[in-house]
Amino acid sequence: MLTRISGGTVYDPINHVNGETRDIFIEQDRIVAPPAADAKIDHSIDAKGLILMPGGIDIHSHIGGGKGNIARMMMTEDCDSHQICGTSLLRSGSGHAAPSTFVTGYEYAKLGYTMCFEPAVAPSNARHAHLEMSDTPLLDTGGYLILGNDEYFLQLLASKSDPQLIRDYVGWMVSATQCIGVKIVNPGGISAFKFNQRQLDIDEPHKHYQITPRLIVSSMAAALKDVNLSHPIHVHASNLGVPGNFRSTLDTINATDGLPLHLAHVQFHSYGAEGKRGFSSAALEIAEKVNENSHVTVDVGHVMFGQTVTISADTMQQFANRHHGHPRKSTFMDIECEAGCGVVPFKYRAKQFVNALQWAIGLELFLTIKNPWQVFLTTDHPNGASFTTYPHLIRLLMDKSYRDDKLLSINRFARQASNVEHISREYSLYEIAIITRAGPALSLGLKDRGHLGPGAVADVVLYRPNENWEFVFRHPARVIKDGQSVVNEGNIVKIIPGKSHSADLQFDHGIEKHLASYFESSRTVSMSNFKISDDEMSNSIGSSLVRH
Ligand SMILES: [Zn+2]
Repeated sequence: MLTRISGGTVYDPINHVNGETRDIFIEQDRIVAPPAADAKIDHSIDAKGLILMPGGIDIHSHIGGGKGNIARMMMTEDCDSHQICGTSLLRSGSGHAAPSTFVTGYEYAKLGYTMCFEPAVAPSNARHAHLEMSDTPLLDTGGYLILGNDEYFLQLLASKSDPQLIRDYVGWMVSATQCIGVKIVNPGGISAFKFNQRQLDIDEPHKHYQITPRLIVSSMAAALKDVNLSHPIHVHASNLGVPGNFRSTLDTINATDGLPLHLAHVQFHSYGAEGKRGFSSAALEIAEKVNENSHVTVDVGHVMFGQTVTISADTMQQFANRHHGHPRKSTFMDIECEAGCGVVPFKYRAKQFVNALQWAIGLELFLTIKNPWQVFLTTDHPNGASFTTYPHLIRLLMDKSYRDDKLLSINRFARQASNVEHISREYSLYEIAIITRAGPALSLGLKDRGHLGPGAVADVVLYRPNENWEFVFRHPARVIKDGQSVVNEGNIVKIIPGKSHSADLQFDHGIEKHLASYFESSRTVSMSNFKISDDEMSNSIGSSLVRH
């Protein structure tokens, strides 16, 4: 079946299309080149006056894995206040900061998002993470495996093992867990926490292993290059949330020696310790460094005011933040000595100095990092805010006078300490298309996503222009996924399952000889049960696999 979407104003940065009127043709689930003039068009969609973009891609949002379930159990308040009833098409569900899988899929689709990546898959939890993501309708998904605090990797580094062994271990782990990237959370810090260290800066040795976060980051960056992983090492840097941590962030950029690096939720890592409150913005220092280093990308992890719940593998810093919990409750856990987990509910307040300045720091980063291909739109859902706040965030970026109005409502000392009111930049639609779909697609190596050229998967969003950009991005006129209309005028009209995306890597499977005995002596599952096969992904987990 051939569909023509005619007369829309197209924003497709990967193909350098900036607001041109074009017809887009879809055959089955793919975009195709314009057919011959006499070709039979089976279905036409009139897009005159509408804005067309590829489907949105969220590069960092916590949508699967055990920590989400802990948050759901701890935050019954969150479920009480946000409930949807089932219909003949939709399942019932609940939650805002920690929504159910169904609500997550519905809400993302209604905002025009068609792909979402879980950035913290604990190795032993990978099976659960994939089950949960495959249960999330309307969204293609993928996961980044947490490595860099796992005992086996730290032992390899401490014993100065051959880099080839490290490469094969990393390649085997990503492949066995069907992930598409590697995430390091607080390099070495989660492990050091278990040895009673309460802080670990980039050049500080781990008490037990005597290795530094710098060595962990540089070794992992080299390993990922060797296994041919598209997405660069995805790093949650040292000292999350600690005043003065921008120096650790700058050092982390230096640590990869020019190899590609993605810094996650960099807003939480851009803090100075100046002023009488000992907390200041260092967004300009971070932006300047990113501007000088084209191999570095970041996602912002913007903060929005209101109740949320923070979920992170960074047990060390979550433990330190437990006193700020609202409501005052928290959970910390560890799994198989390979990663950590801390869940702390949090309420960001506009009139509170630190929270207000966090909000402003996020905006400063977006507005001073010059190249939109280096910065991606996230709230680190749900850590800075729910992903449902994205349309509001887009309006803040596109509309200076609206931004200035909002600035007047925050804590005045935070306003004075921030640079936001002096920045005149407004994002264009083309730039929004880069930071919400084209940039993430390139960074993840997704060649047939994030653009509207022939061969791309037909994930297309049609927006209706309005002077209120929040309204535009909250209410797409139509969302097409895999060539099928799934949202029409704000209503979900069809449910289709998402696919699961994983990486195709090069490594020596001979590493299994070493790993089998490690699993036997130190883990609760055998190596063969740990591994998730392609058959298991498609049959038991129920998600069709796409390799990149
Ligand atoms: Zn995160």
